[in-house]
Amino acid sequence: MKLLLVEDNLTDAEFLQASLRRSKAEDVDLTHVTTIKEGTRAVRKGGFDVILLDLNLPDGSGIECVEAMQEADPDMPIVVLSGQDDEDFAISILSIGVQDYLVKWEGKGRLILRSIRFAIERKRSEKRLNYLAQYDSLTGVPNRQYLTEQLDQSIARAQRAGNKVALFYLDLDKFKAVNDTLGHDAGDLLLKEVAQRLYLHTRAGDVLARLGGDEFAVVIEGLNQAHDAESFARNIVNSLVEPFMMNGREVQVTASIGISIFPDDSNEAAVLLKNADIAMYQAKEGGRNEFKFFTEHMHAELVERHQLEQDIQTALRLKQFALVYQPKVSIETLQLTGMEALIRWNCPTRGLVRPAHFIHAAEESGYIVPLGYWILSDICRTLKTWQEDGLKVTPVSVNVSARQFQQADFPDRVANILEQHEIDSSLIELELTEGLLMEDTDAAQICLEKLKKIGLSIAIDDFGTGNSCLAYLRKFPIDILKIDKSFVDEVGESADSDQICKAIISLAKSLGLETVAEGVETERQLEFLKENGCDIAQGYLFGHPIWGKEIIELLDHSKGNFASLKPTISFKNSETQNARILNLGAKYLT
Ligand code: C2E
Ligand code: CA
Ligand code: CA
Repeated sequence: MKLLLVEDNLTDAEFLQASLRRSKAEDVDLTHVTTIKEGTRAVRKGGFDVILLDLNLPDGSGIECVEAMQEADPDMPIVVLSGQDDEDFAISILSIGVQDYLVKWEGKGRLILRSIRFAIERKRSEKRLNYLAQYDSLTGVPNRQYLTEQLDQSIARAQRAGNKVALFYLDLDKFKAVNDTLGHDAGDLLLKEVAQRLYLHTRAGDVLARLGGDEFAVVIEGLNQAHDAESFARNIVNSLVEPFMMNGREVQVTASIGISIFPDDSNEAAVLLKNADIAMYQAKEGGRNEFKFFTEHMHAELVERHQLEQDIQTALRLKQFALVYQPKVSIETLQLTGMEALIRWNCPTRGLVRPAHFIHAAEESGYIVPLGYWILSDICRTLKTWQEDGLKVTPVSVNVSARQFQQADFPDRVANILEQHEIDSSLIELELTEGLLMEDTDAAQICLEKLKKIGLSIAIDDFGTGNSCLAYLRKFPIDILKIDKSFVDEVGESADSDQICKAIISLAKSLGLETVAEGVETERQLEFLKENGCDIAQGYLFGHPIWGKEIIELLDHSKGNFASLKPTISFKNSETQNARILNLGAKYLT
């Protein structure tokens, strides 16, 4: 053990050395110096395990002595030597990073040695704690705390040098899927490998950190223009192109990156982090696997989004939501066969808001879950009053968001609502999108089977727009395919769309499913659908979505008395004209 004794009082030094000799410790090798200057020089040279430090030296005293040694080597354990009358001071000094103290003339050699060993051990565990507080234990790269500290320092340096700092906020896309399908161990392994790959792309002086979960950040200093950050971001995106090998399987990951720049976006580390996070979020929204620079516009958007979410919460509480219903008509008989419930928000400040403006925010914030149950309850309440008024009701279809469908108790709660309102399950159709079912096909199948058991019909909404996987059509208990409006729109105008429509209809037929064409606006489209055997049509041609109370009129006439309704559109085709379809709602809620 190599000790450095910094003590100007030669008698004190001699006593200490004698005590150590007497303890017969063999591995003790003591170097004695008498000033701070000599002491720090020796420490810098290195090789010592511990410093025994007097606090009254010719070139300094007290804390000064400690600080000089710590500056020379912050990792060096220090034991302070104190006189009998300044023991209190020695104790107080333990809080500034001194590991122990010895009162001169008091210690026997063994006690002194014990104190020294204790000091070394204590320093070691302090270092370890320090490390743990600053490094991520899984990947070994620095953690958020360390990054934030470093970012502060980078900003200070860049301020002096007059250059820029770029902060990259990186989030892996669909990491959860890897965790879910390959297990947590594979997920951990992937994070380690990603950290390594990112590390390869950093240079000395850059800081790579793991912020938590599947989020990483990189700080780069000394940029001259924001533009320089772009090539780094591109490099990172490219570096992930090569798949990772996990237990012999190739796993492909991509990342979304948000970039904020000092001083362009902020002077504060915390704000830069927040802004880069916002930009990352935007990159994700923009389709993942890309990078985005933070802009003020993004910030404004975020504030707006936050306001929207608050307002949705208020709207739920104050019952500002209402449902409109759009008729669905049998193409064969032109009779009303059902209707789709569509949500509207009667917002005191925004006016009547269409779902396109708020459903996404409701999904992101989770409010779609209570909203979804309210929608279903409201449909049931309305159906009940119609039934009580003696109307012959038709099934109502309701749109279900992924977030709702993924609630483990979704089928149970749907069953409860039906029961509570005494509504027959055959009166409710659920419209789900393909993407929603494909996210976790096993879970989806279980859920669908429960819903089927309750007696609900299942429709696939916007069919043809997602990554359709025909295999699952067979696997899932589905009843209806809704041909997406984008195909119906182009019927007769694009050979592709004609083909797709035909293909969907014949596919549905072969699987025994019903087809509904949505967004039917023209007679020509209706003709085409009829010729090709589509079952049901929904669209402005037959009616815009209208409030429940107006639907009553339709239900009344659907008893077979269509003819008395005044048609607001004229048809060339006499058959359609006879049906006198019902464009009641055109003036309301397009
Ligand atoms: P969607 O399920 O595809 O609903 C059809 C949309 O097309 C409705 O818009 C409807 O008003 C509109 N539409 C119907 N016929 C025509 C037509 O002939 N021409 C044109 N141009 N448009 C037509 P809306 O009501 O604005 O709903 C938009 C989307 O919002 C819906 O698309 C659905 O994804 C979502 N949404 C609506 N209501 C709910 C709801 O209660 N819950 C959930 N989760 N989502 C809903
Ligand atoms: Ca729908
Ligand atoms: Ca649709």
